[in-house]
Amino acid sequence: MTDDIYFAPLLPWQQTLWSQLTQRVLAPQQSLPHALLAAGMQGMGKRAFVWRLVAWLLCRARDEHPLGACGHCESCQWLRSGTHPSLQTLPLVSLPVSADNANNNEAANSTAKDKKPTKTASNASLKIKIDDIRALQPFIYQGGQGMRICVLDHAEKMTIAAANALLKTLEEPQAQVHLFLISDAPAQLLPTIKSRVQQLALQTIDPAIAVTYVTQALGSTIHREAVGTSAIEQLIQLANGAPLAAVTLAQAPWYSKRALWLTTWQALRSGKRSSVAASDYWQTQLDIAEFIQLSELMILDIRRVGLGFDAQQKDIHFPINLTEHQPTDDALEAFVHSLQQTKTALQQNVQEKFAYDKLMQELAYL
Ligand SMILES: [Zn+2]
Repeated sequence: MTDDIYFAPLLPWQQTLWSQLTQRVLAPQQSLPHALLAAGMQGMGKRAFVWRLVAWLLCRARDEHPLGACGHCESCQWLRSGTHPSLQTLPLVSLPVSADNANNNEAANSTAKDKKPTKTASNASLKIKIDDIRALQPFIYQGGQGMRICVLDHAEKMTIAAANALLKTLEEPQAQVHLFLISDAPAQLLPTIKSRVQQLALQTIDPAIAVTYVTQALGSTIHREAVGTSAIEQLIQLANGAPLAAVTLAQAPWYSKRALWLTTWQALRSGKRSSVAASDYWQTQLDIAEFIQLSELMILDIRRVGLGFDAQQKDIHFPINLTEHQPTDDALEAFVHSLQQTKTALQQNVQEKFAYDKLMQELAYL
């Protein structure tokens, strides 16, 4: 695990919120709410913000370092060694680098192939159980001096029993104890939980700040040709406004193969290429999980074009004849369903070649 997550630079769109919260903590007579929720889609920097704030709250020199934890005091050293006695985290697997932190470049530099399968598998099966919440209780109720912090990442993965156990804790706030909940899918949280936590305003991101950030983040990568303002704006739009997700998208191996996907699809439909040949070729290009992500994005725009809207992707050419030979909505729906099924099948170790063959056959008839 890396400790950089505690000491990384503040993301530019989080500066206002950072100064509001830290000034509140430093002001006399004021304090932070006992329970805070960082919610929203991946790629907005929720986790980066929370871990940075946690480090600062625990830092012994925070009064002199309002912009972030000092990095040198006893508390900061405990964080670096992963042994902080005043910090508890659930689930235990969530602490290592995730896709939604400030070290986005570092995460992107290691190949996506190394990371994705394990991450998907662990997240899919992740559960926070009642025993996990109970195990926190002695820490929360131990009393004593100094601030204590619990971080519950993937809070939506709590079972009902776990959520109810947490609810009791939320109803009896303890002095000096702060709970941070993080969730990529806050709609799945119990309303009773949501009503007892204060949501951090992390979701409003100034578009101009996002464009500047993504441009700078991509400036040093191989994707120089993509660094025009319209290309950046498109990336941010495709990432639903989340800057870190936009950077990850630009660096994804499949993003540069969008035009190629269209070419293959057209060749398959017209019978100029067999599905077996297409499958063999694409297996050399992308792993199947990446091909599925690519296909999902392409289908979204094919749908838009079919409905008479402009494609979101302005940098590739959607065939003009798409409107004449538009796949039916049922056919597109069936293909999207098939992509979903393939994802599930891959978790059960279905062979990539088999999955690729099947998807290419279906694309030919789309
Ligand atoms: Zn410190």
